[in-house]
Amino acid sequence: MSTLIQHGTVVTAASTTAADVLIENGVIKEVRAGIPADGHDVIDAKGMYVIPGGIDAHTHLDMPFGGTTSADDFETGTRAAAFGGTTSIVDFAIQARGTRMRDALDTWWKKAENKACVDYGLHMIVTDLGSSGLEDMDEMVDEGVASFKLFMAYPNVLMVDDATIFKALSRTAKNGALICMHAENGSVIDVIVAKALAEGKTAPIYHALTRPTRAEAEAVHRAIAMAEIAGTPVYIVHLSSEDALNEVREARDRGVPAFAETCPQYLLLSIEELERPNFEGAKYVFTPPLRTKENLPKLWDGLKHDHLQVVSTDHCPFCFEDQKVLGKDDFTKIPNGGPGIENRLQLIWHHGVNTGKVSLNRFVEITSTAPARIFGMYPRKGEIAPGSDADIVIWDPNALHTISAKTHHMRVDYSMFEGFQVKGNARTVLSHGEVIVDRGEFLGKAGRGRYLRRTARGGAWK
Ligand SMILES: [Zn+2]
Repeated sequence: MSTLIQHGTVVTAASTTAADVLIENGVIKEVRAGIPADGHDVIDAKGMYVIPGGIDAHTHLDMPFGGTTSADDFETGTRAAAFGGTTSIVDFAIQARGTRMRDALDTWWKKAENKACVDYGLHMIVTDLGSSGLEDMDEMVDEGVASFKLFMAYPNVLMVDDATIFKALSRTAKNGALICMHAENGSVIDVIVAKALAEGKTAPIYHALTRPTRAEAEAVHRAIAMAEIAGTPVYIVHLSSEDALNEVREARDRGVPAFAETCPQYLLLSIEELERPNFEGAKYVFTPPLRTKENLPKLWDGLKHDHLQVVSTDHCPFCFEDQKVLGKDDFTKIPNGGPGIENRLQLIWHHGVNTGKVSLNRFVEITSTAPARIFGMYPRKGEIAPGSDADIVIWDPNALHTISAKTHHMRVDYSMFEGFQVKGNARTVLSHGEVIVDRGEFLGKAGRGRYLRRTARGGAWK
């Protein structure tokens, strides 16, 4: 089985070259101009960019939250990802308090197997170190779970105290895993939230108004300081504000290995969305919340100058009609999350590359190569070079597309980007050399995606 992608422009994080790509047995064999077509299946990529498949390092498929479950499972979520040019995801298994991490890993493997259409890795959300948690972390690393997420928000649900965070960070200093932090001061936010509810402020907008950017910045600062003390890198998830960004930049300027991601919603949407009438603001309730408009150009700037390294989605869809309504009379009961797994590349291309905010190479870096490196998948993923998995997107820079819930493939009844027009879209998507999406048609199948065993001491350590 061999496939030749001909006449395209190969774009990686490092270079842009006119070259053909030869694939054999799911792996890239050769990348150079003028590879003869003899005997291979040929895909014509004339006028197209040939880029590494997107990697979404932050998704929540089939995830229980607040008495309901995120609307996409591993089948519908990864199929939607594929349509948008994303060929690997890293989702989150959640350790339930008082249980072993192994139980959570088994549970999430079961959710994914026979369902995933693209490759998937797992982070482990640590809620409790108990008496065996530190050994459990080592065991998870052996299973390819090379990263852990801890929450500084959601007291009594997911939040852990600073001692737990510091112990976990210190363990990664030994086992080479990476700690991902949800950085918001949950204790302070809870006080502000209680006050708002007592004053009868129950509408969706109060979700955003009760979570100040300083609460995010304070937690980012504290997370980085604790990582410094532990002598280990740290990765801030879904960074949303200039305040928080300043903390990351300040640390990186001092040479601290602090990393951070942001998401399309923080780059493109702002707090006004939560004031939409008829409770529609609930469609934009996720955490951290949308911020004021002044933050948006600062985040783009952060991406351009590598103060932010990754764009992920935090895809966590809840249907408006039967899930978001749980918080109709109380914004704290609105399931937190929004859909986006399908639209990440389209949005960042259109609003980043087309406008000159990020270069072609930087686009590939923030959507694929950097997450591959940071999370221990490089060079198997995130690269177009001999030996890498043939996860490749043939990207049509001229394709016009209007984002809409009517046509998207995510199993959710609204889009946060409804009506957004984009120029540039995935035409053909290959995973392990197999065409799984071509010209809007899904050709893959559920269960073909493989579990990604990731290695410790990835790029965050170098
Ligand atoms: Zn998340």
